[in-house]
Amino acid sequence: MSTQNFVQNLKNHLTDLSQGVDVKESGIVHSVRDNIVEIIGLDSCMSSEMILIGDSEIPALALNLERDRIGAIVLGDGTQVSEGDTAVRTKEVLSIPIGDDVLGRVVNPLMHALDDGPALKKNPMRPIERLAPGVMARQGVDEPLQTGIKAIDALVPIGRGQRELIIGDRQTGKTTVALDAILNQKDQNMKCVYVAIGQKKSKVMRIVEELKKAGAMEYTTVVLAGASDNPALLYLAPYAGVSIAEYFMDKEEDVLIVYDDLSKHAAAYREISLLLRRPPGREAYPGDVFYAHSRLLERAARRNKEAGGGSITALPIVETQAGDVSGYIPTNVISITDGQIFLETGLFNKGIRPAINVGTSVSRVGGSAQIKSMKKVAGPLKLDLAQYREMESFAQFGSDLDASTRKTLARGKRMTQLLKQNQFSPVPVALQVASLYAANKGFLDDIDPDDVSRYEALLSEYLENNHEDLLSDVAKGWGDDEKDALKKAISDFHEIVKDEFTQSTA
Ligand code: ATP
Ligand code: MG
Repeated sequence: MSTQNFVQNLKNHLTDLSQGVDVKESGIVHSVRDNIVEIIGLDSCMSSEMILIGDSEIPALALNLERDRIGAIVLGDGTQVSEGDTAVRTKEVLSIPIGDDVLGRVVNPLMHALDDGPALKKNPMRPIERLAPGVMARQGVDEPLQTGIKAIDALVPIGRGQRELIIGDRQTGKTTVALDAILNQKDQNMKCVYVAIGQKKSKVMRIVEELKKAGAMEYTTVVLAGASDNPALLYLAPYAGVSIAEYFMDKEEDVLIVYDDLSKHAAAYREISLLLRRPPGREAYPGDVFYAHSRLLERAARRNKEAGGGSITALPIVETQAGDVSGYIPTNVISITDGQIFLETGLFNKGIRPAINVGTSVSRVGGSAQIKSMKKVAGPLKLDLAQYREMESFAQFGSDLDASTRKTLARGKRMTQLLKQNQFSPVPVALQVASLYAANKGFLDDIDPDDVSRYEALLSEYLENNHEDLLSDVAKGWGDDEKDALKKAISDFHEIVKDEFTQSTA
């Protein structure tokens, strides 16, 4: 094209624009296979733009922008698209309708209801991709998000706005940890989003039933892209989920979002990318899978008041193979999050459930969000458990141990028992503090390890029945008054029940 022609074209284009002429941009489907369409003639299409194909306006998402064609993925039924169909730009990044009525519902990533509830309202549209809040819009994490799981709230505490990875092999209780955290948000002024990616539908429906039973669906939305769904939906699911979370954050609310799990999300993205003929990288994942996950997790934030307030706490889940955290996706997500909770098959099979490895799990920012009493009682717990782990291994070789080693082992054993917890039974933080305090002060030392759970249950019941005010004080502060009163209450209780429990020196 000569320079003159080019200038003339540009002028024409500018006149068109200034006259507000809407140049309807449409192209032609060049090829279609496996839900992937190649379209020619849509030169100025944007990345992640929604395109409508054919007379029935089947939506597709533009992913590959090449010089002479674009690659898009059909979000509906790909078999209805054929070569030669027209493809029209919508000039909008893919958007989904979100409003208050999504609470309590099960939806797919395009916000179609999957449960048998009424149709969702015609809510305002929100783009599924949005820039994460910048540094200036953020505020430090200093408010706790109580999961109700003792091992987590005490040792790897999570703060509102944090991103904490839950990682472990299959069937180690990853989903259960996340669900317990959701259950514990009842009456906590928190909205929850559970994004199920690539799981069996029947399994997710069972989870929904469980949430309903506990009254947790009232504040929760489940976004479901099942194992048998189009991989495009699996790819979109977490972005749709976080858009829902942002809707509530924009109303100055706190939100907890669970991505279950990002391994399956990465696999879906790899499938799409290979079909789009993108060059495969490590483990055949596309080079930008790191970017896909980081731009997702960056959207979790605690925003300051000036920026609108609210927070999104993210619990991404990643599945490992044989405990190997050096795989591509695990290392990526570990590096994007603020800490990780490691679940181990060995512990799970030993009956230590939740199977959290308290030695390797960390939370880098949550400590500053812990309530004061919990912070104080968790300190000795950490120390006792660390010493226990160290001695446990070499105590197997020695038969006669000195008194202090025996004491450390006995304490550690009971602490480990105390951190065991059944699924779907979150414990309020004040009761967690009380039982850990009892252990710190040695009340459990003469209780048989097998009786620790029963002792703890009775103690909780006793405190709830007789010391309600004390428990709410403990949740607020930790001065000498609270400490003394709690110690007295525990020792009163101990006097009442101690004969019931078999004395043990093991
Ligand atoms: P998958 O890899 O299949 O997604 P997962 O790691 O998410 O598995 P879960 O589905 O949460 O694991 O749990 C596996 C099994 O262990 C379930 O049957 C669950 O009921 C049981 N389980 C998990 N946590 C506990 C617990 N604290 N106490 C008792 N049982 C538990
Ligand atoms: Mg699971």
